[in-house]
This record gives sequence, structure tokens and C-alpha cells, in this order.
Amino acid sequence: AEVTRFAPSPTGHLHIGGLYTAAVSRALAHQSGGVHVLRVEDTDRSRRVEGADGEFSRLLGAFGLAPDEGGADGDGRWGPYLQSERRDVYLSHVRELLRRDRAYPCFCGKELLARSGEEQRAGRSPLGYYGRWAPCRTLAPEEAARRITSGEPYVVRFRCPYEFPGRVRFADRIRASVTMRDNGNDIVILKSSQEELPLPTYHFAHIVDDHLMRVTLVVRGEEWLSSTPVHLQLHTALGFEPPAYAHLAPLMKAEGASRRKLSKRKDPEASVDYYLSAGYPPAAVQHYLRGLANVRLMDVPTADALAATVRLDGMRPSGPLLDLPKLHSLSREFIASLTPGELYAQLLAWAEEYDPELASVLARHERLALAAVAVGRPEGAPARKDLERWSRFRDRYGFFFAELFGTAPAAGDDRYGGLAPNLVRGIAAGFARDGVDATTPEEWRGRLSELAVRHGFAPDTATWRGNPDRWAGPPRQVANVVRVALTGATRSPDLFAVARALGRDEVLRRLTAVAG
Ligand code: GLU
Repeated sequence: AEVTRFAPSPTGHLHIGGLYTAAVSRALAHQSGGVHVLRVEDTDRSRRVEGADGEFSRLLGAFGLAPDEGGADGDGRWGPYLQSERRDVYLSHVRELLRRDRAYPCFCGKELLARSGEEQRAGRSPLGYYGRWAPCRTLAPEEAARRITSGEPYVVRFRCPYEFPGRVRFADRIRASVTMRDNGNDIVILKSSQEELPLPTYHFAHIVDDHLMRVTLVVRGEEWLSSTPVHLQLHTALGFEPPAYAHLAPLMKAEGASRRKLSKRKDPEASVDYYLSAGYPPAAVQHYLRGLANVRLMDVPTADALAATVRLDGMRPSGPLLDLPKLHSLSREFIASLTPGELYAQLLAWAEEYDPELASVLARHERLALAAVAVGRPEGAPARKDLERWSRFRDRYGFFFAELFGTAPAAGDDRYGGLAPNLVRGIAAGFARDGVDATTPEEWRGRLSELAVRHGFAPDTATWRGNPDRWAGPPRQVANVVRVALTGATRSPDLFAVARALGRDEVLRRLTAVAG
């Protein structure tokens, strides 16, 4: 069983790439019978965004990705799960490294560090930004203690072992084996003593936490791949058994013929809020994110998708393409697989948060709403795949509700296809008189044909041997008048089914409004 974690930093909005990491990481824990932990990494005070830590639990929950343990105020045996509350735990490990001389206080100011950067760039200090040459590395402990007591500001650095000259090798579950240059950098593990309560750096804190929270598999973004050698060194220095690693490549976006990284700034779909406010059902998003990890999962039928296994060994080390049309088609399948009752409940839950007007209409007209969605799901026939996100519901189904529909388009409206307004009025009036009481689709079509003939349209155009779908002959024009009067649109689901869902009174009201 794997213990995995999602360890975001509260530095702004959750990115879809973060949700992807969380989905993959959680799936790997659950499918092995393990545990998934949410840990909030907030040791960088300058980049902290107020309230962002609590947001993670809310957002993950909204996508059905709630962790088993953790979160800013979450429970679990190995908490707290908010790093700023774990300071004393980290300090004890910093002290332990200092005691064993695997860490040392460093008093170098900015200028000195800038100079070390130059040395490195000039190739004089190939071992890194701050490494073997550095003056504080060899300071006698008594001297360091004296400078600390006299109040000189300092940070604590890890004493990097230089026993791997040049290269390190480690296993990555996606890339198999990775060989990398070891930068030999004495990284800072505890930030400046000038801060009121110095916190450890991300590098140090996450090592201690991954160990104490008994993480067995770290799934994280590829941007951390190059830090993995030093992370492994830290684990070893602390006497910990390092976890396994899987570094996920970043999500890409197609731009013309090429690809680029999805950008927080440029691409609205990079933000998780986008998916929530557009109203993609969480299960569809989850299915899609798992499919990004393993393309074959995209083809798994909706009903089985969330149980299907995510496999790291099938993953490509190049970044998957975030492809909204693919998400739409999965999401359409998913919505089409819902019963009217399920659809109603999920739609209402979304609307309560993102479209209160729609929510109140839906709540007031539950029966009509169920009848409306049932129109797209005739019994015994495949459901229409006409909806991929709840924000499109108004567009596609809004006309069913008088409050959202308003009044039927007036007789001169373009949507009547250029028929003379008097003719439109006549058809609407005639249908109101003779058509509304039809009780079967056949009867209904019969009334429409009679009406067409009565208004002088030739009777037999529907049997034209050309493509009937392209044919805009008279009975079609007559049907179109009724369609536009009832739905406000020139395309709609089956007109008879629509009329039945609307009910006789509402049908009459709309036709009469057009007849004048
Ligand atoms: N806190 C890091 C981030 O926000 C997590 C890196 C890791 O998972 O180790 O990206």
C-alpha cells in the first residue's frame, strides 16, 4: 500500500496542473489500498496568500478528491498538516544536523552570495552556488557560536556531501532511472535568524514531513526533478529511508502546430476555478485528469472510469496536452449517463453556487425540470449528448421555464425564417386552436400538415427524395413557426416531447403571444 501526498503551497489559485497531480497521486494511494494526505506547505511567508490554505480542502472536495488525512485544519494521526504549525518539529531536526556537523550556521551576506554566483558562472566554482569554497563551511564551531551570541544574522545550511563527484543516479517511477549532475549546493535549510520565528525552507521541511507522515511515493511536478538529488542527500543525512519518486511532466497547450506549457497568466483553463464556474461535473474532470496520465483511460466507459487503474509505467515523460474538446466529449458522455433525477440534483447543486437565479427557478419547478431533462433522455433510446457543463443548461434547456424564456419572439422575428408576419400569426393561431390537443406525435404531425395545407403550402414536400434534412420546405416552415414560438430557437429536441413537458397551458400562452 502506498502513502502519497499532495503538498501544495498556498501562493495563489490552484492550478489545473496541481489538481492533476492530486488526482494521480490520490489514485495511486487508493488503488493500492493506501492513504492519501494533503499537506499545506506554507513556509514561504512572503508568497503566502491569505486564506489559500483552507481553499485546498474546499477545492479538492469539490472535485471529489478529498484526502484521507490532512489539510490546513484536517485531522489525522500525523498532523498538524500545515507546515507553519510544525516549526518545532523541524527545528529539532535542524539541531540534530548541527550537532552531527551535517549543517552549519552561515553568516554570508548578500554581496558574498552574489560573488559566489559569479564564481560559479565563471566556472571557478563548479561545485555550485554555495559550496565547498564557502567561508562559513569551515568556521570553527566556537567561532560560529560567538557570532551567533553577538547577534550576527545567520541562516543554517546543509553540509552537502561531496562524495558523489559529478553525477547522481536515482529511480523515478516514470522515467525509470535518472542520471543528473550533482550541483553540490549547500542549500539553506533554516531561514534567516532576522525573521521573528525563522522557518525551514521547503526543501528541508518537506523531507522531514514526508518521513514523519510515512510517505512511500512522492508524486509531484517535474520542476522538482532537479532538486531530487539534494532531497535524497537530506534524507540520508537525517537517517531516513527515502520515498520513491514520480515526477509528472507539465500540462501543455496546443498553439498552432506547436505546444507550450499551459500558462497561469494566459490560459483561463489553467485555473481550477474555471472548471467549477463552468460547471463540469467533478467525475468527468476526474476521469479526464486520469486520462491525461494514461491516454487509454480516456476510452474507459464512463461508469467504470473512476475505478480504472492509473499506471505510472504507462506514462510518457513528455507533457500531456490539455485538450478541452476531449474533456467536453467525456463530460457529455457522463452527463448523458445520468438519470433525470441525478442530473437535476447535480445541476441544482452547481446552480446554488454559481447561478442563483437558475437555482431558484429549478427549485420552484422541480417537476418541469425533470420533465425537461427527460426530453433529452427518452426511455429506451440513447440519451442526447447535448450538455457538457452546467453553465450551458440555460442555453439548451432554459426555454422550458417561463421565467427564463420570457415571451415568444414576435411574428416579424428573423427566426421565423422570413415568413410574412401575418402568415406566422395565422399559423400560431391555427395551431393554438387545433393542434395543442394532439396526444401522440403522429397526431401532432398530422395537425401540422393540415395547417400547412390550409395555409397554401404544397402537401408532399416532406417526401422529397433529396436530403430531407437540408430541405426547408413548407411543412418544415410551419413546424418551425411552432418551434420558434415554443422554444425561441430554430433547433430543439423533439417538438412534441417539448410541448408535452411544457404542458398545454404554457404551449397555448406562447402560441397566443405570437398570434397576437
Ligand atoms: N510545495 C511544493 C509545491 O508547491 C510541493 C513540491 C513537492 O511536492 O515536493 O510545488
